[in-house]
Amino acid sequence: MNCLAIDVGGTSVKYGIVDKDYKILQSGSFPTPSNEAEFLESINNLVYEIKLEFSAISVAMPGFVNQANSEYLFGTNIPFSIDFKKLKNFDKYKFFLDNDGNVAAFYEYKNYFYTEFKHLIMLTFGTGIGGGIISDGKLLRGQGSAGELGHILTSIQKDVKCNCGKSGCLEATTSASKWTEICESLSISEPNSELANRFKKLKVGSVLFDNKINFSVSQKLAQNEIIENISNGLVSLFEIFNNEIFVLGGSMASQPFDLINFIENDLAKRFKFPSRKFPRIQISTQKGYSGILGAASLYFNE
Ligand SMILES: [Zn+2]
Repeated sequence: MNCLAIDVGGTSVKYGIVDKDYKILQSGSFPTPSNEAEFLESINNLVYEIKLEFSAISVAMPGFVNQANSEYLFGTNIPFSIDFKKLKNFDKYKFFLDNDGNVAAFYEYKNYFYTEFKHLIMLTFGTGIGGGIISDGKLLRGQGSAGELGHILTSIQKDVKCNCGKSGCLEATTSASKWTEICESLSISEPNSELANRFKKLKVGSVLFDNKINFSVSQKLAQNEIIENISNGLVSLFEIFNNEIFVLGGSMASQPFDLINFIENDLAKRFKFPSRKFPRIQISTQKGYSGILGAASLYFNE
């Protein structure tokens, strides 16, 4: 039976009707609602409008959840709680809830990497940065909220406040929405540059990593700063978890340009790992869909 899988991001909510072979039969998105009542209303409407049959609803949220209670607690980009038990017809469907980074990591691992690797770390770049850690083939949960990789400290910049209450979080300096912000301000200061033109056309911050562009000095500086922050994050994670592969996903994964090359060049320039091999880095196999498919896998792996 199909699953209505919902991947909630800080800016938009993506959904899909997924069948047991992980085929997305129908999909769509809407802007992320700004409070609990609107949130529940929009899912009620969605359930009503979808004509395909499904027997489960599975939601991936960007923050802390209480699975046993079907409750979302808090996340930096959705700072209000949501009690999904208040959904109309809640009892009619099987209901699943988990953190978005965790489900994305689990899905990628189970479907693509488990034959080759046992230690995988996934980072999802969108409005924020989500994460999930597979260690020795298992999803690491800690006390319940392990893998909040966007909130590891990678920057000493005190003026870059994160919505989580700290300063210097990876997410605050380095999320995909931050890339977009940086492209916007670079486009204002250098409106006739190649970057400004590309950005005007494509509207995605990842153009900052398009190797075909001739970048100006200030654009290169901005680019370097982001890349170094990402590298620092990856190196710290590698030192703690000794993983074999990093999978980078989230909304940026549909147009990553040369991000991986930039990261690998920076790593080679600044770090050495004698006697050890730094993990492979690759873009999510599912482009922007690992959240939806990950949510669906909560049901299909039940
Ligand atoms: Zn933070």
